[in-house]
Amino acid sequence: MAEERKQRMTATAAAAKIPKMVRANFTANLKAKEEGRPVAFSFIVNCYDEILRAMDIVPAWAESYSGICAAKRDAGKYLEKAESQNFSRSLCTYATCGLGFEYWRNELGGEMPPDAPWGGIARPDFILGTGQMLCDPRYKWPQAAQHYMQDVPAYIGGFYWPPYDENMDQREVENYYLKYAVDELKGAIAFIEKQTQKKMDWNKLEEITDLVDRTWDMFIDAYELRKARPTPMDTGDAMNTMVPLAFMLGTQEAYDFYKDLYDELKGRIDKKEGVAEDEKYRLLWGAGLPPWFALSDFQYFNNKGAVFPAERTYREAERIDRLDLPKLSDPLERIALRWMRYWTHWYDAARKRKGSIPEVERLIEYIEDYQIDGVVFHKAFSCRTWHSGILLQAQILKEVYREIPILVLEGDIVDISSYNEGATHLRIDAFIEVLENLKNKC
Ligand code: SF4
Repeated sequence: MAEERKQRMTATAAAAKIPKMVRANFTANLKAKEEGRPVAFSFIVNCYDEILRAMDIVPAWAESYSGICAAKRDAGKYLEKAESQNFSRSLCTYATCGLGFEYWRNELGGEMPPDAPWGGIARPDFILGTGQMLCDPRYKWPQAAQHYMQDVPAYIGGFYWPPYDENMDQREVENYYLKYAVDELKGAIAFIEKQTQKKMDWNKLEEITDLVDRTWDMFIDAYELRKARPTPMDTGDAMNTMVPLAFMLGTQEAYDFYKDLYDELKGRIDKKEGVAEDEKYRLLWGAGLPPWFALSDFQYFNNKGAVFPAERTYREAERIDRLDLPKLSDPLERIALRWMRYWTHWYDAARKRKGSIPEVERLIEYIEDYQIDGVVFHKAFSCRTWHSGILLQAQILKEVYREIPILVLEGDIVDISSYNEGATHLRIDAFIEVLENLKNKC
C-alpha cells in the first residue's frame, strides 16, 4: 500500500507542469502499445534520443518508471518481488524495482501488475541499452529483464570517452573513441531497422540533431539565470525540470519548455521573487541522485533560508559553443562528439590545478559562478556508479579549493526503508548552524 506523502511546493510554474508531462510520456507508451506502434525500453542519457525520435520509436523510460513508483512511495512491492528472485537489495534500486515489476508481469502471463502506479509501463517490443560511465546495470538490467521477457530482443551498445589523465591531452586519443561510439550508434540504427523493417530518415536525424543542440543551449541559458540573488529556482524544482532534457530530448516540446522556463525565470528575477522568503545561504547540490520519496526535504532547507541555485545532478548538457566542437556533417559524429566533449571539457581545468580532478573542477565552477556557501551531497547506497566517488570528491574539493562546509546525506533513490526523516532533518539543522556560525564570523 502506498504511504501518504507530503507534496513539495514548487517555486516555478514550469516545475508544476512536469507531473502532467511525465504522465503523458507513460500514457504515450501504453497507447502506442495498444495501437501496435513500436515501443522501446530506454535508459537516461542513452545517447539514442535523436535516433529514437527520427525513427518514430516511442520510448518507455525504465528509470523514470522506478522513480515514479518511489515518489508515490509504492516501490516496496516490486523490490520485494525482485528480492524473491534473489536480486540483492543493495543492487541499483531503479533496476531492482523494474526487474521486480517485470518478474510480476511475467508471473501474470504478460498482464500489467495490479494497481501499478499511473497504469504501469508498456511491455516493450525491444530494449535499447548503452553501457557507459561504468554503470553495471546499464549492461545487466536489460539482460536480466530479458529473463522475464524472453521474446524481447535487446541492443546494448557501448559509449565511452577518453578517461582523465593529468599527463595526457585527451584530444590525442579522441578520434579512436569517436570512431568506436559512431560504430555503436550505427549498430543501434541497424538493430532498430531490423526490428521495425523501417529505414532511418537521415534528413530527419540531422534536423533533430540541430534541435537537440538548440535545446542544450536553451536549457543552460535558463539554468544560468539562477545565478541571480535571490535565486528564482532551486534544485527542488530542477529535480522536475530535468524531465524534458532527460526524457523528451529531440522533441520541440522539450525546447519550448526551456524557452518558457527562461521567460518565467526572467520575470521572477525582475520582480525579485526568490525561492526562500529570506535567502540566507546558497548551496550546491554537489552530486547524487535524489531520494524521490523525500523531495519535500528541499522545502525543509528553503524554510530555513537555504536555497540551491545549482546542482551537478541532471545537468547533462552544456552550451554548445563551450565544447569547441569542429564542424561535422555526419549527425552520428555530432551526437557522439557532443557527448564526449561534454564529459571531457573540464579536463583542461583539472590539469591546471595540482591534485584536482574534472568532477571537482566542475563543482568549483558552479561554486564560483553561483556564489555558493556550502555543498550538499546525497549518497544513495544502491547506486555505486555515481555515489562511490562522493566522499573522495568532497575531500579533494577541500584540499585543492577551500574549507567549504559540506554535508553528506545518506539514503537511497527508491528504497524508502533507508530513510529516516527525523534524523535527516537533524543533520540539516546542524549544517545550517555551521553556515550561520561561518556567516557571523565574516
Ligand atoms: S547510474 Fe546508478 S542509479 Fe542509474 S542505473 Fe546506474 S547504478 Fe542505477
